[in-house]
Amino acid sequence: MPDRLRIAVQKKGRLADESFTLLKKCGLNFSVRGDGLLARVKNLPIDLLLVRDDDIPNFVASDASDFGLVGENVFAEEIMGVKAFDIKIVRRLGFSRCNLCLAAVENSAIKDPSDLNNKKIATSYPSILKTYLKNNNINATCVEMKGAVELAPRINIADAICDLVSSGATLEANGLKVFETILESEAVLVGSNRTLVANKQRVYERLLSRIDGVISSKDSKYIMLNAPEDQVDIITKLLPGSDAPTIIPLSADNNLVAMQAVCTENVFWETLEALKDKGARSILVLPIEKMMN
Ligand code: ATP
Ligand code: ZN
Repeated sequence: MPDRLRIAVQKKGRLADESFTLLKKCGLNFSVRGDGLLARVKNLPIDLLLVRDDDIPNFVASDASDFGLVGENVFAEEIMGVKAFDIKIVRRLGFSRCNLCLAAVENSAIKDPSDLNNKKIATSYPSILKTYLKNNNINATCVEMKGAVELAPRINIADAICDLVSSGATLEANGLKVFETILESEAVLVGSNRTLVANKQRVYERLLSRIDGVISSKDSKYIMLNAPEDQVDIITKLLPGSDAPTIIPLSADNNLVAMQAVCTENVFWETLEALKDKGARSILVLPIEKMMN
């Protein structure tokens, strides 16, 4: 169906659930069942291609798909490995955060990237690693592995590894220690520079505006409080990520006003305590479900 916007999404894995959650928060009504390759969105002309994450950049570059949701690590590996790959990051999505790191056995002589000269490094990200080594004038050999990279030093395949790390627990369990981060990654929406037909473009713009709404409402809160009129300026400065609260005089008490604001950054208990110190009372913090600017 050429008129339906196609988005490639990881079918199963660490990126899949949060990708589906994001699309559902954008109001897309679909279900992923069995081993189907395609999930049809019922309420918008969008099809989801359910694939392995490594295939997503290539699907977008080759026009099998218009857009894709993929880890920045996979995107970077593909664009550094293939020349003239026509794909670009359209949005950073803020989930599936992880780092591509260099690590070596604890207590080994390798403590710093410069110690890697004439050593072997195991990785599933050869293009990113080779680019890093070249940019840093390090003369090391890259040993490509499809998985279980963290085992490489133990079985003497390599002296160090270059692998994804989130909490570090897997590395620690294998006696490895990170000494350098070479890429900070999160899920990204990728697209190409091709022109979309008009109706696909309209659907894409609607989707993008909804994605922006989901991203910006994620850490946003609506805050309501009562405050002494002479404290309004000080209290406004304390509201995280908000510069123009709505101020409503309270007729019951002339010295008090009600303030309401959208805070685009986290509101912590410490924030509420600081507000209370400045005379704010009846402070309410409410979640924001959707936002559209
Ligand atoms: P596939 O079967 O689709 O090829 P995979 O096994 O290659 O999947 P996953 O392990 O599901 O990949 O990871 C998918 C993506 O999730 C990674 O490319 C990365 O962007 C992100 N990711 C990897 N490890 C973590 C982690 N520990 N925490 C959060 N996100 C991660
Ligand atoms: Zn993969």
